This record gives sequence, structure tokens and C-alpha cells, in this order.
Amino acid sequence: MAKKIVEGLWDCPYCGQKGIGGLVKSCPNCAHPQDAGTKFYLGEKKDYLDEEKAKDYGKGADWTCAFCGSMNRYGNANCVNCGAQREDSSGDYFENRRKEQAAQAPPPKPPQPQKRKKKRWPLILAILAVIAVIFFVTRPKDKATTVVDKTWQRAVDVEVYTTVQEEDWSVPDGGRITDSRRAIRTYEQVLDHYEEEEYEVPYDVLDGYDTYTDYEDNGDGTFTEVEHEVPRYRTEYRTEYRTVPVYRQDPIYDTLYTYDIEKWLHSRTDRAGGSCYEPRSESVRSGDWSVEAEPYWPDTRLGGNEREGAREEEYILYFTDDKGKTYSARVTEDVWNRYKRDQGVEIEVQGSRVLSIDGVKIS
Ligand SMILES: [Zn+2]
Ligand SMILES: [Zn+2]
Repeated sequence: MAKKIVEGLWDCPYCGQKGIGGLVKSCPNCAHPQDAGTKFYLGEKKDYLDEEKAKDYGKGADWTCAFCGSMNRYGNANCVNCGAQREDSSGDYFENRRKEQAAQAPPPKPPQPQKRKKKRWPLILAILAVIAVIFFVTRPKDKATTVVDKTWQRAVDVEVYTTVQEEDWSVPDGGRITDSRRAIRTYEQVLDHYEEEEYEVPYDVLDGYDTYTDYEDNGDGTFTEVEHEVPRYRTEYRTEYRTVPVYRQDPIYDTLYTYDIEKWLHSRTDRAGGSCYEPRSESVRSGDWSVEAEPYWPDTRLGGNEREGAREEEYILYFTDDKGKTYSARVTEDVWNRYKRDQGVEIEVQGSRVLSIDGVKIS
């Protein structure tokens, strides 16, 4: 393909004349020659050089005269403007472009962290304010209160030795077999056979070429038209076959036993509980309790095949502050025994939770 050369354009920076032909070396309006600042560009309409003329272009960039600054054709040994020799000059059109670009590179931006900080201050203050409010509302507070009630509860689990029926693959000690049968215990994966399987394999096929045109700046007032071809592919599929194993699940049988066995089972929970005082206020839970000042363990009255299991106990103190708000705290029996009704107590609370009583932490 013959190289196609297009004439570029340039603007005169001295008189403002625009769109001067790239091969016109001096401005037709003010006669100022092309110089280091001259930059060629493509016009809307492509002006192709004829074949004969095209042969003379695209061979080298114009050089800059070091003495008068004007631009000269690659082939010229002397400056057409001042006659200076080419050997005494260095630098050409492309070097001028590189210098131009280096000069245009933006200087590194000075850091401006202070401006950003200023913008963030309101947000930081708002977050701190929210944290402060949460801290203020939920902070532990000391309260002067009075003991208004105390309750206790004790519970004993009762277990019974009884015969139960169970099923398993083996019989534990003491088990009496009542039945046995064959049953599926598990499944085993077994290779059954092989099968041919069809599958699709993708592959790329050249579909054609996409072309686009580019213009390369020759630096001599012209541009070379370059046709680029980019291969375009499409995906096709071919069918292939492979052998794959096919498995089946085979049941594994075993003997499943039914047997009777004696075990301790939870039977019931016996409870005892009470309040030390007749309730004074409706809000106090002890209204549900009988007045039983001294905690005791419930009488479990065990039957012949019964025994005692786990024990649980709970001791609760109730306090009221001068505003009538009631707090309750689960405490150890020791702490519980230490307090009497109408006794003044300093408690530390967080929300409705009691943290400590008279400076002693409760868990
Ligand atoms: Zn001009
Ligand atoms: Zn010159």
C-alpha cells in the first residue's frame, strides 16, 4: 500500500492567523517563519499530497535553526532564513514538542491537609458529643437507698431410676435385648460403570479484520496516514467426548437392637422460697411469696427408686431510692444475710443494674 501523506496545519502565534498549510514555512499574513513554538495539527478536511510530492515528505522532522530560531526542512543544509549551517544547530520539531510537554507538566501540588482537617471537625465534634451523652446516661451512679425486701428460693432436682427402651447398633452393659432386626446402617459409594459424556470446547475463529486510520505527525508539516488492521475473532464450539465414572449408593446392613435399660431420669424439681417481710409496695416481687424468713432446702420425700440431683439457690435484695425507684440485685447468701429491712444502703447502679452494694462488687 502506497503511503498517503496529508498536509497538516499550523497557527501563527504573532498575528493570530489560523489554519496555515504545514508546507507554508512563513506566515502569509505577517511573514513570521515557523519556529520552535510551531505545532502541526490535522484539519477537518484531509489534504492529500500527490504521489510525486509525497515522496519528499515523511523522511525526517524539520530542524530548528540555533541562530534565528526558524524551522527548516530535513534535507536543507543551511537555514533558509539566515543561512546558518545545519551542523551548528541541534534539536528538531519533536524535541521542541518534548520541551513543551516538560514545561507544561503541572508542578507537584502542595499538600493541603489543614483544609481537609477543618472540614472534618464538625463531624468529629458530633461523634464526641454523642459518645459524651452515651457516657453520661450510662455511667455508673451512686444511689442512697433503703432495703425494702429480700427474697430467697431454693430448688432440688429429683431423679428416678426407671426402665427405658432404646435402639442402637450395639447393646450397652445392663441392656436387655427385646428385639433385633436387619436395617440399613449406612451407604457406600460404589463404582457402577463408565459413561461417555458429551461436552463443548470453545475455540476462537478468525472472523475478519477491523481497520482504523491513524495519522502520525512527521514533524515536517505533514502527517502520514496509517491503516491499522486488528484481527477480530468469534467463539465457536466443538463437541468432544470423555469417559466419566458413574457411582451408585449401596446400602450396608447391620443388626439394630431394641433393648430395655435402667437409667436415672429427671423426675421433678422441688422448690422452697419466701420473703422475709410482708410486701410494702406493689412493685416489689415478694408479694407472690409467703413470709419465710429463714431459707431452708425443700423436703424432697424421696421414693424407693429416687435420688437427689442438682441443687440451685437464689437470693435477691430489693432497694428503693428517695424517688421511689426500686432496684433488685441477686447476691450470695452471705451478703443477703447482712441486710435488714429499712437499713440505709449505698448502691452503685448502671441503668437498672446494681453493680455494687456498700462498695462491694456483686457479679
Ligand atoms: Zn503571522
Ligand atoms: Zn536561521
